[in-house]
Amino acid sequence: VYKERNLIAHIRRLAFASAVKSVAQGIGDDCAILRPAPGYELLITTDLFVENVHFRPAWHPAASVGHRCLTRGLSDIAAMGGEPLACFLSLGLPEDSSQTEVTQKQVTQKWINGFLKGLLSLAKRHKVQLAGGDISSARQVTADIVVIGQTPAGKAILRSGASPGNRIYVTGALGGSAAILKQLYAGKPIKPTRSNTHFYPVPRLEVGAWLRKRATAMIDLSDGLSVDLAHICKESQVAALITAKLIPIAKGANLELALHGGEDYELLFTAPRRTKIPGQIAGVKITEIGEIRNPADYSSAIQILGQNGKAKPLAQRGWEHFRKKR
Ligand SMILES: [Mg+2]
Repeated sequence: VYKERNLIAHIRRLAFASAVKSVAQGIGDDCAILRPAPGYELLITTDLFVENVHFRPAWHPAASVGHRCLTRGLSDIAAMGGEPLACFLSLGLPEDSSQTEVTQKQVTQKWINGFLKGLLSLAKRHKVQLAGGDISSARQVTADIVVIGQTPAGKAILRSGASPGNRIYVTGALGGSAAILKQLYAGKPIKPTRSNTHFYPVPRLEVGAWLRKRATAMIDLSDGLSVDLAHICKESQVAALITAKLIPIAKGANLELALHGGEDYELLFTAPRRTKIPGQIAGVKITEIGEIRNPADYSSAIQILGQNGKAKPLAQRGWEHFRKKR
């Protein structure tokens, strides 16, 4: 199957193709050495990707899995208003060809190459160096990704900064990834093209960095609007009122998917009413969808104003909702 030492040498060659100056020492020593800019703090995020939980080999090409894996980490850095510096990848790979769909198809080396290509081309695009990691045998393909980023000290945008009167905004359009997933579950063949944001989501790093001086709270939409807005409400100890007809719905999706579908990797943020937020940031559409309210006014944290002009509580049904259908 794969030869661990050869694979490490291969990954090392690929990693140095995107060497950046914030990494003083990359792959090849006991530790990596990172050099954040003076006066900056480090941001660290980790994500675990597991075959048949986070991706399915039958649905997701290897390059898409690598891309989605790194997007998840980059999107978290974006959600803090940070810039990414380096990533670390630990891979668990099956050795016995009977164990997983990936190896059943006899594509292990090809699969790994595709995975690395997907991950590293996204890394290169955002000047993030692969600075270390590990490889082990495992029952199923498992990828653990760590992304390190930086922000000026004390300037990261937290989930806890929203206050009553702040406007609520989202980037892009919502529900697109869940709409594709729904079709995949229904057995529809979907072409995994580069422009399809389910397979190749775009981390909103430029938008996140632009918002660092303007947003009061921010989170990336990985679990779905209803769940992620609830995180802001909980951490900020506020309530929220959103308006159904203002929510930007992705092509092929509907309001339900836009509210509860996960993995769009758009940004959800709040800003004071007086702060001017343009309709577009770095070429990405920005939509105001509601307002942060005083929690004392509401029985539940999030209310949604429907087409009938009446507000009702919005249930938190995120990504888990889709997972249970498996
Ligand atoms: Mg996140």
